Amino acid sequence: MDPVSLIRPNIRALKPYRSARDDHHSGILLDANENSLGPVLPHPDALHRYPDPHHTALRARVAAFRGCRPEQVFCGSGSDEAIDLLFRLFCEPGTDRVVVCPPTYGMYSVAANIHDVQVRTWPLTPDFQLDWSTFEAATAGATPKILFLCSPNNPTANDLRRADLERAVATFPGIVVVDEAYIDFSEQASFIRELDRHPNLVVTQTLSKAFGLAGIRLGFAFAHPSVIAHMMKVKAPYNLNRMTLELAEAAFGHTDTLARNVDLLKRERDRLMAAFAAFPAVRKVHVSHANYFLAIVDQAERVYRDLAAAGVVVRYRGNEPGCADGLRITVGSPEENDILLQRFAEVTA
Ligand code: PMP
Repeated sequence: MDPVSLIRPNIRALKPYRSARDDHHSGILLDANENSLGPVLPHPDALHRYPDPHHTALRARVAAFRGCRPEQVFCGSGSDEAIDLLFRLFCEPGTDRVVVCPPTYGMYSVAANIHDVQVRTWPLTPDFQLDWSTFEAATAGATPKILFLCSPNNPTANDLRRADLERAVATFPGIVVVDEAYIDFSEQASFIRELDRHPNLVVTQTLSKAFGLAGIRLGFAFAHPSVIAHMMKVKAPYNLNRMTLELAEAAFGHTDTLARNVDLLKRERDRLMAAFAAFPAVRKVHVSHANYFLAIVDQAERVYRDLAAAGVVVRYRGNEPGCADGLRITVGSPEENDILLQRFAEVTA
């Protein structure tokens, strides 16, 4: 499959914005109406200069870390920017449709609504895996442009089975997005290694979770070079600021801390899940391959409110399909987790 054939004709034909900085980065820079006197506040970065629109250093860094090529990497303001751009690239407003697998991350549907793109649902099974018995019905009619899969899935926390992901990528006739926001907590390998075999595959990742950098807003899409080239054309020229770029590049020099923190969060997760399973008010703790877990709790909505009143904020997910009475609980620091367990025992006593 040629993924470019799925791109909207106006985007394929688009001539991107160009600046002199695309060709020249040094010398006396009088091309971009910046302020050569510098920023009004002292700062070690050259904040009076626009940042690199091509993200050359960061793309090389993340490609080396994830085992792909820089031309397969897009960098955006959170993976939410990548999701938004995928709609702009592939989906004709008012005409095209996408498929999402509830219960899952809500942003796919929100982005679809923003772009006036119809959402078809392909619900997960009761144990939150892909349900091939309903695939034909969910994708009947005009071919959907994008199928969104999330593994580990939010809010359920489980990995989708690898064989199912492979089957989806191999058989779906459009773009398949595998959202790997939580992949560094997973026992499964990233799908980035499959990119060369599947031109319709897009993998999204983020520095917001395992890297602990939600505040800098940095997310990635990994895809066929021609898809990435079109995303680069459509993005705002300077979508990432200098401070974010610098910190993101530096983050890949701290992979020992990454591994240590992931290890600690997984141990804390297992401790919390075991403690939750023993609470009388907890009916089920779903399997987790992420830094959060889904617990089914008697009177979940009341427990959510009482926990918040006691100073511990979790997420009520009871309105999501298949998640009745569900609380999604993020693993905190060991001290925070001790307090969570104490308060949870109090409000469910
Ligand atoms: N995908 C999933 C599954 C998420 O849970 C989140 C954040 N909640 C995101 C993507 C977006 O992450 P960010 O925009 O911070 O990269």
